[in-house]
Amino acid sequence: EIVDFSEPADFYIINTCSVTHLGERKSRQLIRRANRLNDNAIIAVTGCYAQIASDEISKIEGVRVVIGTKQRDKIVDLVEKAAREDGLFNEVNDVMHMHEFEDIPLYGTPHRTRAFLKIQDGCCNFCSYCIIPYARGRVRSRELDDIKNEVTSLAKSGYSEIVLVGINLSCYGTDIGLELCDAVDAVCGVDGIERVRLGSLEPELMSTEVLNRLNKQAKFCPQFHLSLQSGCDETLKRMNRKYTTEEYAKIVDNIRSIFDNSSITTDIMTGFPGETEEEFEKSCKFAEKIAFAKAHIFPYSRREGTVADKAPNQVPNELKKERANIMIDITEKTRQAFMKSQIGLIQEVLLETRTKDGMLEGYTKNYTPVLIEGDKDMCGKIVKAKIEKVDGEYCIASII
Ligand code: SF4
Repeated sequence: EIVDFSEPADFYIINTCSVTHLGERKSRQLIRRANRLNDNAIIAVTGCYAQIASDEISKIEGVRVVIGTKQRDKIVDLVEKAAREDGLFNEVNDVMHMHEFEDIPLYGTPHRTRAFLKIQDGCCNFCSYCIIPYARGRVRSRELDDIKNEVTSLAKSGYSEIVLVGINLSCYGTDIGLELCDAVDAVCGVDGIERVRLGSLEPELMSTEVLNRLNKQAKFCPQFHLSLQSGCDETLKRMNRKYTTEEYAKIVDNIRSIFDNSSITTDIMTGFPGETEEEFEKSCKFAEKIAFAKAHIFPYSRREGTVADKAPNQVPNELKKERANIMIDITEKTRQAFMKSQIGLIQEVLLETRTKDGMLEGYTKNYTPVLIEGDKDMCGKIVKAKIEKVDGEYCIASII
């Protein structure tokens, strides 16, 4: 029986994050909270933080099983073993030489409209600030037949939208002689699936050929989350990113000319080591020029074991946050402008949930959030709607 995290449970599985200090702190807090709720519980800790700091995790009171980003299908066996035998079961081992994609079936999400399907793991880019290649290992891709089989069963369970995700999704297939477009074509070919979307992408692999091929699929949703990180070339170089701002802007122009009503969203980091006022200003101007439909802004977080952690001229925390707030203001304005640009358009909206106010919440193909009046039994359906106005975080639309 699955209980709410606020209630005592016999077993806890804490899936940890290591992408920032905050992710690690929150992971530790959750482990301690589980132990306070039931100090007899079996607590199993998995994920990136467990992979890179298994000794640290093992020392936290109550932890009985530690398993990193490999062999996670063994969690149930290990938890059962920990229930039978005393001691700590630390099963973390080297992930850097792993070549196979670890297939973990998807058991569904609460709303049964959109499923996130992981098709790729690992990354070989080694951006200078990032710990992920050490926590996830090299690029591994899921076989097309496995993808098709899983999507077929998701479609039978009622899912109509699939979001393909990965650690470095753009690299899908490079290890098995395939391309990301092959996975998109395979999923689009499954009956019952109406929409296919991509998760976060590294921009450099979004060539004109790839974009043209994606555009041939009527089910493909033109929402591109292109990770930018900085809008200044000098900063990008120190980050060991693989593109310049000129190349990035060209890809965005290409997307906008190939796809009808596309949206470009991104992640931007502020206060990377050595980021001067001048570099930050360049980054702001570039973000404004691209006019993102949405951006996730975060201050640089030092990660031990990375090149950037040892770099000179670390930016003080206060300044990183101050710059993040300035960048948030800029990208909020472009977000509002994007939302307003949708007014008057007739769009297909996949209705997902009913809000507290009795409205139905859904998303257009370019991932604009929309509220529509309608009955609850319309959830899960795609309707045609006219966007009437913008109200805060949502566009308000009416069904036509
Ligand atoms: Fe990390 Fe992404 Fe860079 Fe890979 S591409 S090293 S996951 S930031």
